[in-house]
Amino acid sequence: VRAFPLPTQTRILTVANQKGGVGKTTTTVNLAAALASEGARVLVVDLDPQGNASTALGVDHRGDQPSVYDVLIRDGSISEIIQQSPESPNLFCLPATIHLAGAEIELVPMVAREQRLRGALDRFLAEETEAGEMFHYVLIDCPPSLGLLTINAFVAAREVLIPIQCEYYALEGLSQLLNNISLIERHLNPTLAVSTILLTMYDGRTRLAFQVAEDVRTHFPEQTLAAVIPRSVRISEAPSYGQTVIGFDRGSPGSISYLEAAAEIAERGAPNRGN
Ligand code: ADP
Ligand code: MG
Repeated sequence: VRAFPLPTQTRILTVANQKGGVGKTTTTVNLAAALASEGARVLVVDLDPQGNASTALGVDHRGDQPSVYDVLIRDGSISEIIQQSPESPNLFCLPATIHLAGAEIELVPMVAREQRLRGALDRFLAEETEAGEMFHYVLIDCPPSLGLLTINAFVAAREVLIPIQCEYYALEGLSQLLNNISLIERHLNPTLAVSTILLTMYDGRTRLAFQVAEDVRTHFPEQTLAAVIPRSVRISEAPSYGQTVIGFDRGSPGSISYLEAAAEIAERGAPNRGN
């Protein structure tokens, strides 16, 4: 496989959908691994207290391990907390521990509570530049709710990637998500754009999946990737080995579909918004 083009500026994408179980975490870690395997330096920020992204990347996130909680609540510095994933020397994770569950409440009285992650990421990326290094992508995995953790992700990002599960209720809640994103855009982050929609858990045998995919493409022709992620046992098995499907079974259809999605994201580049 040919290496993907690399962005000249760090692209920061938040993977969001307020529904649980639609493939946010799976998409975050597999796209990150796909991009890293093609030469990009990639950081995954695990913003879900469940820590599923940290698990899938084979990164330690037990109990008192320094984590994204320390970054958000204690001004911890990202460079001291990130861990390299055993899967690739280009792939890093800012892990989540169970402490993050409390952050949703602890953030409430804090100054600039919506900007905590953005501030820390800005400092970190500036340090990298100073050291002559660069992260090409930061992918943020969100919890399934629109609390302060997700708001921090939207404020830190420039792009939103929405995974949509190809099932009957898929579009329900999507307009609410888009409304919330435009509120954030208006009040907290004018540079935010929904750049990417990815259809996941596609079951080609059902007419319903086909119809949902058609519907999404009709409504979001520019954003929806041509690549579709099939329902695949290999994808769901990989995390129990502390691996992404890219590392676990690179030649499997699920892995190939994530490599294709990553190639499209890389080839399209960042959305044109003058910033
Ligand atoms: P979210 O982060 O949105 O809650 P997950 O990524 O954790 O969703 O996915 C929910 C469940 O579905 C997990 O058990 C995951 O392994 C499984 N899963 C996700 N994508 C696929 C897929 N393409 N094929 C099969 N299982 C999948
Ligand atoms: Mg998740």
